Amino acid sequence: TGIAHVADVTPLLPVVGSDTLVPLVDGRSVPYANLDVAASAPALASVAERVTEVLPLYASVHRGAGYLSQVSTALYEASRRTIGGFVGARADDVTIITRNTTDSLNLLAGCVPARADRGPGRVLVLDVEHHANFLPWRRSADATVVASRDSVAATVDAIRDELALQPYALLAITGASNVTGERLPLDEVVRVAHDAGARVVLDGAQLVPHRRFSLEDTGADYVAFSGHKTYAPFGAGALVGRRDWLDAGTPFLAGGGAVRQVGVDRTTWHPAPARHEAGSPNVIGAVALAAACDALAAVDPDEALEHESTLRARLVDGLSDLDGVQVVQVWDDAADPVGVVTFGVEGHDPGLVAAYLSAEHGIGVRDGRFCAHPLLSRLGLDGGAIRASVGVGTSGDEIERLVGALRSFVAEGPRAQYAVVDGCWTV
Ligand code: PMP
Repeated sequence: TGIAHVADVTPLLPVVGSDTLVPLVDGRSVPYANLDVAASAPALASVAERVTEVLPLYASVHRGAGYLSQVSTALYEASRRTIGGFVGARADDVTIITRNTTDSLNLLAGCVPARADRGPGRVLVLDVEHHANFLPWRRSADATVVASRDSVAATVDAIRDELALQPYALLAITGASNVTGERLPLDEVVRVAHDAGARVVLDGAQLVPHRRFSLEDTGADYVAFSGHKTYAPFGAGALVGRRDWLDAGTPFLAGGGAVRQVGVDRTTWHPAPARHEAGSPNVIGAVALAAACDALAAVDPDEALEHESTLRARLVDGLSDLDGVQVVQVWDDAADPVGVVTFGVEGHDPGLVAAYLSAEHGIGVRDGRFCAHPLLSRLGLDGGAIRASVGVGTSGDEIERLVGALRSFVAEGPRAQYAVVDGCWTV
């Protein structure tokens, strides 16, 4: 079935680090096959160039009159506009530069309005979420967890049913699963939530790097995402969305830059975004993320989709052909999943398989429970699983290498000796 061989598929955009050589246990060195881009994606070559360009230009932002301070402030504010524009911010939406998705969702959790009876605002979440889109709501809001069903259609019904039971402020939902890459129909989910009077925040960590997304087009109220998964280095992410909650919410961090006036007894805070950006901002991080947004926006969406879905389909086909290898899914009718695939190899600890792929083949994958313990439990995978993920820098050759390496593993097992040292599988 499907695609027999995709070794000729080339990366869509050049990334840094793809020429890194990995020393193998047998003494050879091979190019690193980074199939763990869902955890952190390598920087685009154009992002690296941009960072080199602006590195000599940074100085204090928003607070200095010097020339470079003005340049830095302009770069920072232009980056904010680019980042917001990349996710289709509406005219009155706010773009807050955060550290990452976790930061963004914690920030928003502190801004959900209280109920009329002064209890914390109600937030609805599914049990498929990454901990970053689960724990903040538990801590700062009144979170209800809905168990997802076997199909997307039944899951959307379950959301609708729960939203009808009591007034919710917010539905916090994944744009694409970091475990299976599966997606829910965003337009429909947004409609269901809005019909019930609830807003929607999307955990866009795995959606925004993979699909063109627009707040304006989908009607979603907020989106959170991470620079380091969007082909920029670590340290910058964003929360983009409706202004009112963000202007009124408790400032995320207390400190300089977020305040209008501080007296000994009383403080008045700025509105968003400054309100939630206390401390010296990450100018270079914001510039890098904006450069990544520009580069991704310049790619033809059809070409991007074709590249990713070809690689994903070959990966799923190749894995499904192997004895004892099982690809995981949550729903039996999810459309257009992103390039994230989780699987198990029967009878083998996921950590051993991941260590083998690295030590004997130079392939990087992720193993464990992917910060989604409720979902892994639901899937019967409390012992963890293995995840391979692809992005714009992935080549077909890397997919063939993974499938070939797993074929050898299933047929012959590992060649080297492995043991668990300090909780990690090691040669
Ligand atoms: N949500 C999803 C779906 C993710 O995949 C991740 C990262 N694995 C996060 C949230 C958290 O992202 P970060 O670690 O950058 O805050």
